[in-house]
Amino acid sequence: MQISNNTAVSIHYTLTKDDGEVIDSSIDGEVLSYLHGTGNIIAGLEKALDGKNVGDKFTAHIPASEAYGQIFEDRVQVVSREMFDGIDNVEVGMQFHADVSEGPGIVTVIAVDGENVTVDGNHPLAGMPLNFEIEVIDVRAATQEEIEHGHIHGAGGHHH
Ligand code: ZN
Repeated sequence: MQISNNTAVSIHYTLTKDDGEVIDSSIDGEVLSYLHGTGNIIAGLEKALDGKNVGDKFTAHIPASEAYGQIFEDRVQVVSREMFDGIDNVEVGMQFHADVSEGPGIVTVIAVDGENVTVDGNHPLAGMPLNFEIEVIDVRAATQEEIEHGHIHGAGGHHH
């Protein structure tokens, strides 16, 4: 069966940066399963998978614009340490949920200088082209219920 809109697709993937560093991989873990055509995965990867078949193996180079988007400099902000009430040691690399109108809603501490804490609200993979090594493991027609919910059920999907 071919991947098209409203198919339930299972893939194995390895995600790398352009310099070859592995960011994430499903190999040795569970397959990634998603409902095709609904934007459940990044746009460039969905486009690359369209029309592929079970058993297909390929690599896809996804520009940042079709992955996690560009970096917005105004999402980097200096805030007061007082904002981190209840946290004794605010350190570089810590991530916090933030009440923001744009972006992924998670900020990463990128610098600490006395009472000033610099946080970055960009997605950690923003501004970065991504490389996916893909193997298509399974393709089936989605059920009516899955299509209505906009996600798949069962193994690798939602359980409810
Ligand atoms: Zn559901």
